[in-house]
Amino acid sequence: MSVHDLKFLEEKVDQLKKDGVYRTLPVLEGKNSSTIVLDGKEMVNLSSNNYLGLANHPKLKEAAIKTIEKYGVGAGAVRTIIGNMDIHEELEKKLAEFKHTERVFIYQSGYDCNVGTVQAIVEKGDLVISDELNHASIIDGIRMTKADKAIFKHSDMEDLERVLKENAGKYKTMLIITDGVFSMDGDLAKLPEIVELAEKYGAITYVDDAHGSGVMGSHGRGTVDHFGLHDKVDFVIGTLSKAIGVKGGYVACNEVAYQWLNHRARPVLFSTTLSPGDTAACIASVELLMESDELQKKLWDNAKYFKERLGKLGFNTGHSETPITPVIIGDEAKTMEFSKKLREYGVFGSAIVFPTVPKGTGRVRCMISAAHSKEELDKAVAAFEKAGKDMGII
Ligand SMILES: *Cc1c(COP(=O)(O)O)cnc(C)c1O
Repeated sequence: MSVHDLKFLEEKVDQLKKDGVYRTLPVLEGKNSSTIVLDGKEMVNLSSNNYLGLANHPKLKEAAIKTIEKYGVGAGAVRTIIGNMDIHEELEKKLAEFKHTERVFIYQSGYDCNVGTVQAIVEKGDLVISDELNHASIIDGIRMTKADKAIFKHSDMEDLERVLKENAGKYKTMLIITDGVFSMDGDLAKLPEIVELAEKYGAITYVDDAHGSGVMGSHGRGTVDHFGLHDKVDFVIGTLSKAIGVKGGYVACNEVAYQWLNHRARPVLFSTTLSPGDTAACIASVELLMESDELQKKLWDNAKYFKERLGKLGFNTGHSETPITPVIIGDEAKTMEFSKKLREYGVFGSAIVFPTVPKGTGRVRCMISAAHSKEELDKAVAAFEKAGKDMGII
């Protein structure tokens, strides 16, 4: 029995039900791979950030198991009071080498990385300038600072310049923050223009490349590498939880930023560091990426194939420049219904609706992976065709 009945929450949950957007969490029975088992039924998985299939790679599993035998399962403390192990330092060095950067500082997740880094590097008297479609973890990071904030229209360089012009000279530091790859539409930030504007107005730059890490650029070095902008962006965030296949986040930066974060990044000071098994698996993953770009090639081939097939059927797949493939349905309830139908036909594709994306732009977001076989993609396309015809969408 609880102390209060929490009626005010019940009303909100009832409203979700009325809006047709109430859901329970799906339950994965077994591993996250190109096919998954849900409700005892095998289906093609179009809803994973496991872009390269590394979450189940034998080399990563072996590295984690060996390391758990030697170091145990938990780091035992925050880094400062010696949860910091030699393997954490090794992962940072390996990532710095991979990213062609002076330093890398690791966090327990990409979310922690944004919250911890933004909060540590700006303060009262500074201005954060943020793209309106930036990820929630950036928004939360900005909320934790006493800096002023300004929002520019999504990827609108005229609007960004307007904000910079209006505020030039008024602040100690102006920090421009953008996602590298926007996760709901799969479009890229206009990094060359952003860097140029930052130089013109004396701002510093911060790119959250969670969906670009392991996907964009040479060997998956990211969106900054894709545009040839090494040493032009001050803070480059990556996640270890998506294409890298494990768990964690990091910021690539220079030596002095690294030293400052070591003293002031709150998730590192007040939360236990990455587990030894995860850390070792991340090291093995980065080593694989440095050795070969075969998985990236397979990922891009698969994405191109899938997008072309859906486009030919008449679906609206937006303007993605990456393997993220949104199939835009529009109406929220209709989107949920479409996703449910796909599931009946053996395909799992998540419905993404307001408030994650603007009202009226509900979509089934398809995440293509190097792990998908052509047969699995064909099965998915057939399910889209059937569901689309059932509902009169195509
Ligand atoms: C997924 C994501 C994150 C969070 O990364 P996690 O490692 O899952 O916490 C941060 N930023 C962006 C843009 C993301 O897409």
